[in-house]
Amino acid sequence: MTGQIVIVGTGVAGATAAKTLRAEGYTGRIVLVGAEDGLPYRRPMVSKELLAGTVVERRTLLDTAESWRVGTIDIRTGTRATEIDSAGRRVRLADGEWLGYDSLLMATGARARTLPGPQRNVHTLRHAADVAPLRSALDTGGSLLIVGGGLIGCEVAATARTLGARVTVVHAGSAPLERVAPPAVGAFYRKLHADNGVAIHDAVTLTGLAGDSDGVTATGSDGRTWTAAAALVAIGSVPDTELATVAGLDVDNGILVDEHYRTSAPGVYAAGDAANRFDPELGAHERTEHWNSAQAQGAAAARSMLGAPPACPEVPWGWSTQYGLNLQFAGRIRPDDAFVLRGSLDEPAFTVLALRERRLVGAIAIARPADLRAARGLIGRGAVLDTGACADPSVPLAQAEVAEHVGR
Ligand SMILES: Cc1cc2nc3c(=O)[nH]c(=O)nc-3n(C[C@H](O)[C@H](O)[C@H](O)COP(=O)(O)OP(=O)(O)OC[C@H]3O[C@@H](n4cnc5c(N)ncnc54)[C@H](O)[C@@H]3O)c2cc1C
Repeated sequence: MTGQIVIVGTGVAGATAAKTLRAEGYTGRIVLVGAEDGLPYRRPMVSKELLAGTVVERRTLLDTAESWRVGTIDIRTGTRATEIDSAGRRVRLADGEWLGYDSLLMATGARARTLPGPQRNVHTLRHAADVAPLRSALDTGGSLLIVGGGLIGCEVAATARTLGARVTVVHAGSAPLERVAPPAVGAFYRKLHADNGVAIHDAVTLTGLAGDSDGVTATGSDGRTWTAAAALVAIGSVPDTELATVAGLDVDNGILVDEHYRTSAPGVYAAGDAANRFDPELGAHERTEHWNSAQAQGAAAARSMLGAPPACPEVPWGWSTQYGLNLQFAGRIRPDDAFVLRGSLDEPAFTVLALRERRLVGAIAIARPADLRAARGLIGRGAVLDTGACADPSVPLAQAEVAEHVGR
């Protein structure tokens, strides 16, 4: 097949889509356009190794410049796409150049959610370019206030401690990591952070966060205040739908796509953190914000553009590393699920399983990657578990399955 495919976004979804097009035999021109400077890189390393300074930026790259050249993928980094003419099937770049396309993939990812008003010494962390200012604040100031108790807030807390900073976390939720883990796991992480010198304050509603050359002051609705040399606002991300909105695509918590990643405009697809995809098995749209999901979606969207058969849907899963401890989570948990503990919360190696009518729907594994691997398969096929057997960490998880399948 010849022609031209344009991909906007050099994150993992866009980069994987470009590689997949070639792997599937597409021989036309591929242009990969990205607003960030530099080649596609592993974003998860931003809050971990890159901020810690244990790897240099070159080590975070998904692929070498040579590999992109050999794959004849025309990468335009430091270049923003500013407009889509969907009737004329062309996309405009910031320098005014128009690129025609047969198919266009929007892999524009997400942006860090911010608090109103720019403030001195108040940072966010999404891109590799955000690392240097935060790192310099940590090196000179010595103390960091993190607003947000989710994955990025907690990861940065752990990284900043390894750099010797004094760290405090305030967040609105009732336990850290509550978007991905049940309260018992949140309590484990609160203790882990406390043991490493980080206090996490729950249920804090900030009425102000002010920053000046002397540092930052946060004020809670109950009158409490916190001061530090710098602050990191880590209160989640918002899908980057700016270009899609300008182009008139249907947008609702992300760029709306059908199960085949098709947007409301002909020939225009979307994948990754930016996309809110209709999942026929769930009967609903779902937007994920995990590396593996963005990667799988980039590959699936590329195959869809070529009319290739879709791959089996992946159970969403992600991971985090804090103080060297690996956490992995999979599936979709709800507070009213029945949670089963495999192992002991007093040890830094256990798994919590989420069951709904005895069917495995989610899992969170701390330093038990084999459990998570097994859980992903079991969740994917709607396995029903024996609650006694699955609670015993000495029984391989797959052996806890009983011969009753009730769909996913
Ligand atoms: C600090 C951090 C740590 C993380 N750690 C983990 C982890 O440990 N495990 C995990 O599972 N997930 C993690 N994630 C989430 C994971 O990195 C994301 O889900 C994934 O990177 C999303 O990939 P994407 O390609 O959809 O979007 P992105 O990675 O956001 O890439 C989108 C790209 O599109 C570009 N772009 C946007 N608009 C335009 C435009 N108009 N023109 C040109 N370019 C444009 C952006 O600049 C960006 O480069 C982390 C995220 C962050 C921010």
